[in-house]
Amino acid sequence: MLGMKECIANRYEALKSPAKDNVCHDRNGGIQGIQVTMFARLKTVSIIVLLSSQCLSKKDFSGDQVITIYPTTEKQVAFIRGLPEADYWNPKYADEISTEQKADVRFPRQAIDQVEKSLDAEEISYKVMIEDVQLAMNNQLKGRMARAGRELVHDYNVYHTVEEIEQWMADISAEYSDLVTYEQIGVSTEGRNMHMMKISTNRNNPAILIDCTFHAREWISPAFCQCFTRNLLEGYGTDPLFTKQLDSLTYYIIPLINPDGYKYSWDENRLWRKTRSKYEGDACFGTDPNRNCDANYGGEGSSNVSCANTYRGPFVESEPEVKAFADFTRSHLGEIMTYVSIHSYSQLVVLPRSYTSVPTPTIDVLMKYAKQAVDEIYRVHGTVYTYGQGSSSLYFVSGGSKDFAYDIGIPWTCTLELRDTGEYGFLLPEDQIEPVCVETTAALRTLSDAALELWLNKS
Ligand SMILES: [Zn+2]
Repeated sequence: MLGMKECIANRYEALKSPAKDNVCHDRNGGIQGIQVTMFARLKTVSIIVLLSSQCLSKKDFSGDQVITIYPTTEKQVAFIRGLPEADYWNPKYADEISTEQKADVRFPRQAIDQVEKSLDAEEISYKVMIEDVQLAMNNQLKGRMARAGRELVHDYNVYHTVEEIEQWMADISAEYSDLVTYEQIGVSTEGRNMHMMKISTNRNNPAILIDCTFHAREWISPAFCQCFTRNLLEGYGTDPLFTKQLDSLTYYIIPLINPDGYKYSWDENRLWRKTRSKYEGDACFGTDPNRNCDANYGGEGSSNVSCANTYRGPFVESEPEVKAFADFTRSHLGEIMTYVSIHSYSQLVVLPRSYTSVPTPTIDVLMKYAKQAVDEIYRVHGTVYTYGQGSSSLYFVSGGSKDFAYDIGIPWTCTLELRDTGEYGFLLPEDQIEPVCVETTAALRTLSDAALELWLNKS
C-alpha cells in the first residue's frame, strides 16, 4: 500500500513519464493541506486537485483478472456458477450463465490460480480477457492525466466525475438557454440533486426520453449523454437533420440517474454498480436501480439478497432515484413516444419485455426500429450490434426501467448496451468515447425519427 504522499509523488512522476504507473490506496483525512505543502513548487493547484482525486481511494484491483469462460455442457455451467469470489460482468448474475454464450467473470488476485486450475481440470475453455484489472482502470484515465492542469469540464474525450458532469450541465444549459431548460427531478439517497435537461423548441412536440448511468460502473453511459447533448445543441441550426428533429421533438436527457453510485465508483470502488442506500436488516449497501422499477418487481432476474449486484431493494421504487425517474416518466405520459436507457456493455438493443418470454404485443414495431438503429450504428464504424426482446436476446430482468416505461404506455422503449463485447468491458478506454458517441448518435437520430412516426400514427 502506498501512503498518500508517496501516491501523489508517484502520480506526479507518472505524469512526467507516462510509462510509469502507480496504484494508490490510502484514504486520509486532511489531504488537501498535505498536498499543497508538498507541492507548493508545482505550477498549478489544478494538478494537485487532479492527482488527489486519483489518490483518494480506493479498492485495489491489482492482479485481479477478468476471465472469459466458454461452457459447452450443463455440467460445466453448474461448475462455473459455483466458482467462489466471482464478480459477474456479462451476464450479470450466475443463474444466467448458459451454454448459449460466453461468460466474462472477474476474480480477485488470490483466487486466480485456483480458478484456472479447476477450469483446466474440468476441461472448460477460457481465456484471460483482462490481465490486470487495476492496470486497465489506470489506463482508462490516462488521457485525463495527460490533460492535467487544463480545463476538463468540457472535454468530451475523457470520463468525468459527478461534480464535473453537474458543472457541465449547468454550463451548457446556460450557454444554450434558448433551447435548454435545466430542472431538478429529485434528490438522491445521499442528498445530491438529480437534474434533467429539457431541450426543446416547441412545448407541444412529442418527446424522447434518454437517461444515463443507471449503473455506476458503466462510465461510457454518462460520457455518451454528454456528447450527444453537445451534438444536438451544436447541430441545431447547422445540421439539417438535427435542426429538423429538434424543431419537431422535445428531448429529455438525464445524464446521472444514479449520482451516488457513480460518485462511489470514482472515489471508492471502480466496479460499483448499485445505488448507495442501506436498509435496516440488510447486510450490504446498494440496490440495483434497474431491478427496483414497477415492472414485474421481485420476479425472475432480480435478487432479494442485499449483497447481490442485482438486489431489487426492499420494495418497488424504494430508491429515491428510481422514484424520481418513475414520477417524471408517469407525469409525461402521452408526450414521451420513445425511451432509451443507456447502459454497457455487449452492443445490444434490448427490447421489452425482459421479465417474460411471452412476445410483446407490439414486437413488430419494436423490432422494426431496433433493426434500423442497429443498421445505422453499423454504417458508421462497422460496429456490430444485435437486437431482440430482452428475455430472449439477453437474460431475464424484473424491475427494469425500459419495461416499466413500456408497461405504462410509452410505445417504443429499449435498453442500449454500448461497446464493447468483451475486450475492455466496463473499462473502455477514453479513446473510444468519440467513436461510441458518433455511432450511437446515429442510432438516436433513427430513434428520433421513430418517435415522430409513432406520434403521427398515434390513434
Ligand atoms: Zn447497466
